[in-house]
Amino acid sequence: MEYLKPRIGVLAIQGDYAAHAEALKEAGADPVEVRKPDQLDGLDGLILPGGESTTVLRFLEKLNFFEILADFCAQKPVFGTCAGAILLARKVKHPPQRSLGLLDAVVERNAYGRQIDSSILTAETALPGGPLEMVFIRAPRLAETANSVEVLARREGFPVLVRQGKILAATFHPELSQDRRVHELFVRIVNEARGV
Ligand code: GLN
Repeated sequence: MEYLKPRIGVLAIQGDYAAHAEALKEAGADPVEVRKPDQLDGLDGLILPGGESTTVLRFLEKLNFFEILADFCAQKPVFGTCAGAILLARKVKHPPQRSLGLLDAVVERNAYGRQIDSSILTAETALPGGPLEMVFIRAPRLAETANSVEVLARREGFPVLVRQGKILAATFHPELSQDRRVHELFVRIVNEARGV
């Protein structure tokens, strides 16, 4: 059978969704910008980009999109970066806010303080191919993760890239680096889920 590229949505309410769409193309997927619930129809997976999680939440609630998004993300692969990872977490602190509750982790918003709130780190990860550049922007911290959450990279001992089955989450912004290994991993997770 002919291989069809996976169609992966990027929640395009706020934040750096265009960079994710570009990264998905480079990683071998067809990106689809998602602004309304019916645009999730037929998608193979979804990226929840970084931005300001409070703003994204407000939009989701205004559009009656929260529950539909939660349903989609419970069934299909989802990748949350930064604010997107906050939205995926089981529990959000500092301050507390509503979340989709799919990633079994406790996340603290803006956890790195003013001085190092935005920084670039290059470190080894579980991904093959050597050190990975990681761009942090007012990043959250995964303060607790369940045993079912596989840690693929850490910063100062705390997980910054994790996978729990078909959920992938990063507290940094892989779409802002040239390296496409994290998006390629997500495309593989999507392909596995659709049996390709
Ligand atoms: N500080 C933002 C929040 O708490 C996340 C920052 C980001 O996505 N780059 O929602």
